Amino acid sequence: MLLKLIDIHKAYPSVQSDNIRHVLNGVSLDIESGESIAILGPSGSGKSTLLNIIGTLDKSDSGEIIFDGNKLENYSEKQLSRFRNQHVGFVFQSHHLLPQCSVIENVLVPTLPLKDPKLKKDCHSRALELIGAVGLVEQKDNLPGTLSGGECQRVAVIRALINKPKLLLADEPTGSLDRQNALTIISLLKQLNTEYNTSLILVTHSHEIGSGMEKKYELKDGQLIQI
Ligand code: ADP
Repeated sequence: MLLKLIDIHKAYPSVQSDNIRHVLNGVSLDIESGESIAILGPSGSGKSTLLNIIGTLDKSDSGEIIFDGNKLENYSEKQLSRFRNQHVGFVFQSHHLLPQCSVIENVLVPTLPLKDPKLKKDCHSRALELIGAVGLVEQKDNLPGTLSGGECQRVAVIRALINKPKLLLADEPTGSLDRQNALTIISLLKQLNTEYNTSLILVTHSHEIGSGMEKKYELKDGQLIQI
C-alpha cells in the first residue's frame, strides 16, 4: 500500500451564509504502488481540495494520511517540504513553466536543491531520457514561448517526474487543451505511470479523460464512491 486516506474531513466557511460547507465529509481511499485512479466530479465538488490535502499543500480538519507506512500528520513543515520534493509530482491545469528557462532547464528545476554532483549528472541524463520519451528532443533548448500548449504540458508532466516521485498528482491537467492534445497527455501520463511505476491520481470533470485510469471514483456530497 503506497497511500491510505482514512476518514478525511474538510470544511470551509460558506460565502453565502454563516454556515460552514463540508467539502470533504469522511473520505477514505487506498492506493497501491503503480496504481492509476481518476477522481471525477463536477466543478466545486471538492476534487482540488482533496488533491491538495493528499499532496500536503493543504491540511485536513481531521482524518489520517499514511504514506509508505508513515503518518503525515506527524511531520514538521520541513519534513513535509522534503516529502513533497522527493515523493510527489504535481501537474496542474496551467503548465507553470518558467518563461525565461529552456525546456531542459524547466525539467531540471525540481532538482536544484540537490548538491551532490553525481546526482545532478544523473538528473541531467534522466531529463534527456524523459524529454526523448515525450518527443521533444529537438526543442530541448527552446523557450516555452516557442512551444504549443500541448508541448508545454508535456514538459510540465516530465518536470513532475524528474525526481522519480512515487506519486503523481494531476489536477485537471488537460483542462486548457483541445481534445486531441488532451488525449495525448492522458496516454502519456498512463505510459509514464506504467513505465516508472509511479502511482497516479488524476482529477477531472471529464468521464472521457478519466476512463483511461485503472479505477474511477466520484466525489459526491463530500464522499468518494468507486464507479
Ligand atoms: P473542484 O476542484 O471539484 O472544482 P474545489 O476543491 O476547488 O472543487 O472546491 C470545493 C468547494 O470548496 C467550492 O465550493 C469552493 O468554493 C470551496 N473552497 C475551496 N477552497 C476554499 C478556500 N480556501 N476557502 C473557502 N472555500 C473554499
